Amino acid sequence: MFAVETLITNAYLVLEASSEVPPDAGPEMTQVQAAHDAGREIDGGWIALDQGRVHSVGAAADPQPQAQRTVDAQGRLITPGLINTHHHMYQNLTRAYAPAVNGSLFQWLTTLYPKWAALDQESVYLSTYIAAAELIRGGCTTSSDHMYVHPQPRLIDAQIRAVEEIGFRFMANRGSMTRSVEDGGLPPASVVQDEETILEDSERLIAAWHDPSPGAMTRVALAPCSMFSVTEDIMRETALLAEKHDVRLHTHLAEDRDEDTYALEVYGRRPVEYLEDVGWATDRTWVAHYVYGSQEESRRLAAAGVSATQCPSSNMILCGDAADAKTLRSMGMSIGIGCDGSASADSADLWQETRGAMLLGRLKHGPALFSARDALNMATRGSAANLGWDDELGRLRPGDCADLVVWESAPLTQLGSFTDPVEGWLRSGPARAWHTFIGGRHVLDSGELQLAALEENIVGHSRAARAMQGLS
Ligand code: ZN
Repeated sequence: MFAVETLITNAYLVLEASSEVPPDAGPEMTQVQAAHDAGREIDGGWIALDQGRVHSVGAAADPQPQAQRTVDAQGRLITPGLINTHHHMYQNLTRAYAPAVNGSLFQWLTTLYPKWAALDQESVYLSTYIAAAELIRGGCTTSSDHMYVHPQPRLIDAQIRAVEEIGFRFMANRGSMTRSVEDGGLPPASVVQDEETILEDSERLIAAWHDPSPGAMTRVALAPCSMFSVTEDIMRETALLAEKHDVRLHTHLAEDRDEDTYALEVYGRRPVEYLEDVGWATDRTWVAHYVYGSQEESRRLAAAGVSATQCPSSNMILCGDAADAKTLRSMGMSIGIGCDGSASADSADLWQETRGAMLLGRLKHGPALFSARDALNMATRGSAANLGWDDELGRLRPGDCADLVVWESAPLTQLGSFTDPVEGWLRSGPARAWHTFIGGRHVLDSGELQLAALEENIVGHSRAARAMQGLS
């Protein structure tokens, strides 16, 4: 008799986070009821996983399939796995580095670049392994990583070795820098590369690791770091290469006011005009931060299909403002969520960033106009759209990837929360993942990471980080 691999029962199941109450919901209908009636949430539901996919879902009264293994979720909340669309994992080797913590973005970067010049395959493997483990604990099942410092070759290959060991879904971003201090950029010469090397390595990585097939575990995007660290040529050539191989494009944009000044002085244009001029205003592009675009610029980018990643903690630490997600979404732009580098946000916890997105939304627009479901929608559907992967990630319909989180129930901080499981989850907390499945694989079981090399790699990471920071 056929039996699915895993059946999870007795949960409050969010199949897809709604971003708004449906228009036919009357004033007396609560948001919980509205979402439930729209078929997006099931109270007391079950979900069956088989061969890396969601096999079926149902309410308590619906017949359940036979299963090889059953997990009782005991009234816990299940959401689609959160998706991280902007990170620099290697930076966890210089987390909260004291000489840099109180500088501006540019001061912070110029203090740390010389430290990052010591990156090698081993330290990049270790930082990626630890970053993925940290992300899984915070409910993340897919992450991109913007790796743009390349003092040595084949660092992204080392990242992929780490995520393959873990079974973590990953979109590697082949970052690049060409303009060193000598050429009017910010980084030292030892961490930049010439254009030919970058383009050749981009094609090599796409051939080696980009898997466009459904259910892929690794994909590759192309990602020059930012306008102040690469030439216009590499931006144009990269866009052409992305078109040729049908891969995504990513870069930092409008993160800081200093960038406006730099763009006007060096290029005689505003950052968004620059992006348009180099051929990046397309629906294969997602940009990190996008704090300082004008209304008109935002409308143009939205119309072109460009999407953006809000990085709440990083922006509040380094910038003082963040993308206005609600306004940008109303223009038709998809907005995802990212934790950004571990040395700016100093944490890689997507639950925390999702909460940050909710707080920013309410701060900008008031309590009636931004809910926990809006933020969860950003971290799932919005982020999946950033990665061009919304056909099978960020929701839990039958046939979607079996990437989901069973959240820890009723820890001390959630006691007393009964009336809305989604608001309760994001307002209370901090919340931790209790079970995490990626492609149906149980990578976090009852709060414990199921990673064979974790202890060994924690020791190795600490050693590598101390060496990079010049500590004994
Ligand atoms: Zn960044």
